[in-house]
Amino acid sequence: MRIILLGAPGTGKGTQGKFISEEYNIPKISTGDMLRESITLETKMSQFIQSQIKKGKLVSDKIVCDLIKNRIKKKDCSNGFLLDGFPRSIEQAYYLSESKITVDYVLNFVMSHEKILDRISGRRIHPQSGRIYHIKFNPPKINNIDDITGDSLVLREDDKTETIKNRLKEYEKITYPLKKYYLNQALKEKLQFLEIDAADSLINIKNKIKSILKNNR
Ligand code: AMP
Repeated sequence: MRIILLGAPGTGKGTQGKFISEEYNIPKISTGDMLRESITLETKMSQFIQSQIKKGKLVSDKIVCDLIKNRIKKKDCSNGFLLDGFPRSIEQAYYLSESKITVDYVLNFVMSHEKILDRISGRRIHPQSGRIYHIKFNPPKINNIDDITGDSLVLREDDKTETIKNRLKEYEKITYPLKKYYLNQALKEKLQFLEIDAADSLINIKNKIKSILKNNR
């Protein structure tokens, strides 16, 4: 089963993606996570990536398409995969289609930008595992501490308010047109396109996703 999670940053794709990955035993592939990882290598390229992420700008299609190309070649993708944060531009979607990488489902997470700002600024992550919390909606058992390891949680650099505003602008301009693109693909019966009300509770969203994917275990 191959799934794309579409939607603006902060709509809960990461949290639900983790659930889908565990429940259906397919790897969650997040280009954002891979890019943040690559920054630690301290090459010229990683400096560019870091500055784009810090500004809330997208990195080039070539960089992310190469990351995806190498990642989905790996053995653990043979039963399918979930793409979180890719594609994020029409060019990236064309890359998938030209490479004959088909998908079964596109789940589009929808939420107002006002709510998104509220949500992202309260987000805290455990960088080592990718676990995501929210100080109000999904708090850890102990304030600012990861439930499993006891490590401190962090506010990601690109989750700061000014950066989020830029990320939302980039989303509207470059990523939003993907909705129309995938709706068209769904009309041609190439995949199923479904909208998720991302402002709903975590459990309702989980159940909705389960009912959508129930025939594909
Ligand atoms: P994310 O964790 O998915 O919100 O991504 C964090 C940042 O990584 C984004 O704001 C972009 O700067 C960059 N990024 C992640 N995925 C992509 C992509 N598919 N295309 C371009 N830039 C990306």
